[in-house]
Amino acid sequence: MDFNQYDVNTLMEITSRPDLVFVRGQGSWLEDNTGKRYLDFIQGWAVNCLGHSAPEMIRALNEQGSKLMNPSPAYFNEPSLQLAKRLTQSSVFDRVFFANSGAEANEGAIKLARKWGRVNRNGAYKIITMDHSFHGRTIATMSASGKPGWDKMFAPQVDGFPKADLNDLDSVRKLIDAQTVAVMLEPIQGEGGVIPATKEFLQGLRKLADEHGILLIVDEVQTGMGRTGTMYAYQQAGITPDIMTLGKGIGGGVPLAALLARQDVSVFSHGEQGGTYNGNPLMTAVGVAVFDALAAPGFLDTVQARGRQLSEGLLALSAKWGMRGERGAGLLRALVMDRDDGPAIVDAARKLNPEGLLLNAPRGNLLRFMPALNVTEQEIESMLKTLDGIITSIR
Ligand code: PMP
Repeated sequence: MDFNQYDVNTLMEITSRPDLVFVRGQGSWLEDNTGKRYLDFIQGWAVNCLGHSAPEMIRALNEQGSKLMNPSPAYFNEPSLQLAKRLTQSSVFDRVFFANSGAEANEGAIKLARKWGRVNRNGAYKIITMDHSFHGRTIATMSASGKPGWDKMFAPQVDGFPKADLNDLDSVRKLIDAQTVAVMLEPIQGEGGVIPATKEFLQGLRKLADEHGILLIVDEVQTGMGRTGTMYAYQQAGITPDIMTLGKGIGGGVPLAALLARQDVSVFSHGEQGGTYNGNPLMTAVGVAVFDALAAPGFLDTVQARGRQLSEGLLALSAKWGMRGERGAGLLRALVMDRDDGPAIVDAARKLNPEGLLLNAPRGNLLRFMPALNVTEQEIESMLKTLDGIITSIR
C-alpha cells in the first residue's frame, strides 16, 4: 500500500470544493500539486493576516517548537502569558481564555454570559443574536447563528438565542425580557455577506445593554486582529463591549482563538473553561509574533491605505459594470453585484492560466475579499485588473 497516494474523495469536510490540492504558500501566493500558482484573496478565510508562511511565524514555530511544545494545561507557559498581556493592553479587557477555534471561543462567551446571568441576573440566560449572523459550527454556536435553515436541520437547537435584525435597535429592544443576559453580534457580519453593524447601532446596543443591565458581546473572530484597519473593529464605533472573542487572524494560520472579558464579568471558576490545548505555547508563541507584526508602527495605517485602494478599485468596477457598490472596512470588503455572477466569477478566476485567482462568493451577487493584511499595492492592482477581465468575459 502506498500511503503517499491520496484520493480527494476520502476527505469530507464543511463544503464541497473543487479538486484542488495546495502544497505550498508564500505571502499572497499559493501553489497547487501541479505547480500552478494562485493569487490568494481568501487567505485561509481571513486567517493568514501576514500571508502564507510568514517568516516571523516560522521563526516563532521553530524557536518555540525546539524549546517547549506542550507543558500541561495545568501550568502557565510564557508565550500564553505574553500574548494575554498584549491582548489586554491593546483592548478594554482584563481577562483572557485561550481556545483553539472561533466556535470554541464563542462557546466560552456563551457559557460565561450564562454563568454571569446565574450569578448576577437571577438565572437569566437568553442571548439575543442577529439574523444572518455566523458564530460557528458547534451545536450552541449554530443555535446562536442566524443562518437560514440551521434551526431545523440540527434541531433541537440549544435554547435561548432569540434573533433580532441587524441595525434595527427596536427589534433588539422588543426581545429583551427578564431572561435576557446579553446581546451578541459581529461588528461586520462576515459569512452573512460583509454587512457592517452601523456605529449608531453598536452605540445604541451599548446604551440598551447598560439600561437593562445586560452584557454586550462582540464576535471579532473575523473582524479582529487588524482585519478592518484597527486592531479590533469595536474601536471604530467608540464602544466598550463586555466580552469579545477572537480567532482567525490571532494565530495568523495556526489554530488559536481567545475569549476576552472584563474582570468583573469573568465569573468562571477553575475548571469551568479551558481544554487540553488551550494556551498551548506553540500556538501562542506564533500569536505573539503575529501580534507584534500587527502592532508594529505603521502596519495598521498600511492596512487602511490598502483598504482604501481596494475600496476605490471595487467602486470603479461597480460603476463601470452598473453594479451596486462595495462595502466593508479595511481589508474585509465585498463587491455587491447587480446579478448572481459570484459563483461563475469564482470558478473562472480559479481556472485562469497560467496563474489563478482565489476569490469567495458568500452569496450569488457578492464577492468577498480578504487578502493578507500585508498584501501589496501591486497585488491589489493585479487582482482588480484580473477581475475586470473575468467580468468582461462573462458579460
Ligand atoms: N465567528 C465568526 C464571525 C466567524 O466568521 C467564524 C468563522 N467563519 C467563526 C465564528 C467560527 O470560527 P471557527 O471556524 O474558527 O470555529
